[in-house]
Amino acid sequence: MKLRFLGGAGTVTGSRYLLSDDKHRLLVDCGMYQGVKMLRKRNWAPFPVEPSTIDAVVLTHAHIDHSGYLPALVKNGFRGKIYCTKATHELCKVLLPDAGYLQEEDARYAFRKGFSKHDRPEPLFTEKDAFEALKYFESFHYHEAFEPVKGFEVSFTPAGHILGSSCVNVSHAGSDRTVVFSGDVGRQDDVIMRAPEPIGKADVLVCESTYGDRLHGEADPETTLAEIIARTAARGGVTLMPAFAVGRAQMLLYLVHKLIAEQRIPRLPVYLNSPMAIRATEIFSRHHKEHKLNEAQCELIDENTNFVRTVEESIELTGKRFPAIIISASGMASGGRVLHHLKALLPNPRNSIVFAGFQAPGTRGDALVNGAESVKIHGEYWPVKAEIHNLDSLSAHGDYQEILDWLGQGALKPEKVYITHGELVASDIMRKRIRDRFGWNCEVPELFDEVEV
Ligand SMILES: [Zn+2]
Repeated sequence: MKLRFLGGAGTVTGSRYLLSDDKHRLLVDCGMYQGVKMLRKRNWAPFPVEPSTIDAVVLTHAHIDHSGYLPALVKNGFRGKIYCTKATHELCKVLLPDAGYLQEEDARYAFRKGFSKHDRPEPLFTEKDAFEALKYFESFHYHEAFEPVKGFEVSFTPAGHILGSSCVNVSHAGSDRTVVFSGDVGRQDDVIMRAPEPIGKADVLVCESTYGDRLHGEADPETTLAEIIARTAARGGVTLMPAFAVGRAQMLLYLVHKLIAEQRIPRLPVYLNSPMAIRATEIFSRHHKEHKLNEAQCELIDENTNFVRTVEESIELTGKRFPAIIISASGMASGGRVLHHLKALLPNPRNSIVFAGFQAPGTRGDALVNGAESVKIHGEYWPVKAEIHNLDSLSAHGDYQEILDWLGQGALKPEKVYITHGELVASDIMRKRIRDRFGWNCEVPELFDEVEV
């Protein structure tokens, strides 16, 4: 069996791994690239393998950097099945059409502003393409084994990162080998997600390394968040939290309502301004068994949050000036409604902006948490006067210590570990840490490397 790294190598986005034997090709994850322009441009390159020659796709989870290229794959000739967990399927029904809509918006915007090389810029894929791709989905429960293509048996185990997230376990009958893809690995003690399940058996492991060079720190993020919100409210400001629509938005909502209930912050109005995050929150509330919150806790969120659905409501909220808590997507401020809030809130020192997790290089979030004095939004520069924070310890990714502890929980003895899904330095440090702790043979693959597994 062969494994080829078609993405997610040397960077945190664009996860795509191809497993093949002499008869079949199985793609694990089909993500889009995000972040710096050089990476985003890769989305436009022809897929490195002819899509019609891929027999099936298996997804670790719904985030766009793992699933977002699927509509383009189908548009370009892929006709196999796309397999994932039940919750990943539901989340993709929301995320993929939205990604298509955003692609169309971008193309329209480039046309209006005339900054495309093409007379009529085309979207990478459309909302319609995304609905077409959804027809190929088939979902399974965790631990339920299935055969996506002949000779490859697959099962999902919980990865604790977001709702539906999984490690993908692939057993190949012909070679009697097992390859496990970690996907994105969650926290050992997350506020809302259960800890990732230890891996049972792997001859070869493909492991993420988002925080390969960093620890989240011992600081108590709840207390820090409470202090920021209280301080901001006392001076009449707004606390804005850019968040991934799926995952961190639900966690932050829960945390904020918990702080209010415990009277650790004033009873401020709480807004969730992201139609996608609202739908993801509904899906989250329906899947009690997969996370730590019970029905009453989900109701607490539903009843006390102002869900901002329409554009008009969003514009109205952007114009308001009173102490409030606003959660809005996207999490790295690379697009979405959060941009309008940033334009309104950044220039005033009364306000606070709180990021909750990894900021990919090249994103506005990265610039802001690294102390940028101004950021460009919608073609104009906006001065940064608000307080900026990044509460890394609220991230949905385990840090290197948590990943090491997780790897050590099973009776795992892989022959080889490939370190992916990290910036180069982070991946390389992760490689050394795994080698030093377990003595396993580790390697950081380069893009398009192909190895025998
Ligand atoms: Zn993810």
